[in-house]
Amino acid sequence: MKITLLGCGGSFGSPLAWNRHGNIDINNKKNFRTRSSVLIEINNLNILIDTSPDLRQQLYNAKCTNIDVVLYTHIHSDHTAGLPDMRAMSLINSKIIPAYMPKEMITEMETTYKYIFKGEKDYLPFMEIRKLENNLKFKNTNIQSFPHNHGSIDAQTYRIGNFAYSTDVKKFYDGDLDKLKNLDLWIVGLLREDPHPAHAGFEQIKEFISYIKPKKTIFTHMTALLDQKQLIDKCPLNVVPGYDGMIFDL
Ligand SMILES: [Zn+2]
Ligand SMILES: [Zn+2]
Repeated sequence: MKITLLGCGGSFGSPLAWNRHGNIDINNKKNFRTRSSVLIEINNLNILIDTSPDLRQQLYNAKCTNIDVVLYTHIHSDHTAGLPDMRAMSLINSKIIPAYMPKEMITEMETTYKYIFKGEKDYLPFMEIRKLENNLKFKNTNIQSFPHNHGSIDAQTYRIGNFAYSTDVKKFYDGDLDKLKNLDLWIVGLLREDPHPAHAGFEQIKEFISYIKPKKTIFTHMTALLDQKQLIDKCPLNVVPGYDGMIFDL
């Protein structure tokens, strides 16, 4: 399994805007973060989690020309708004691409992106919505998912083998952290150091890590308040901030 962290920024990306650097050292390229998404290559399948607003450039940088399936974590636009960029993936491979999403997302996605899922005027649909099940088998690959709390809504954690992805986490529901035992790699969202109403802070995320003990933990979904080097200095060796284009072979 090959994992590419396509983007690891929060909803604003990092830096926030020209000359608005927060705490980051702008001489360190790894502090330049596009909005969060991840590509998983396994069993000859390309699985994309979330369609970041930066998706076109992310797929280009990863030299990716095919996506077999999209999995959504939640409806927020920093995780969905790049969906129109999937049109190129459909065109190149002459196929309709399935998108799995929790049932609470379906109506809004169908309405917002009607031309993509239903077609409109001269435009044929190029993706299809499928309802997410907790244990999904896509072709020859098992994908597990469960909801975690993200403030006033839920988002999905995904687990494929010994890899799991949990972004936009405030807390986990009872017993669910046990589903993240025996991981080789956990990519988890860390928005900023202090807690946010919809995101756990650094101390809380550290508690999750010490409970599940993944072999390696990578932070994603970081704002410009988190500098890569400063964060590395505060973490144990097997816990590190991600950067755009970071690759893992599991
Ligand atoms: Zn987000
Ligand atoms: Zn969110």
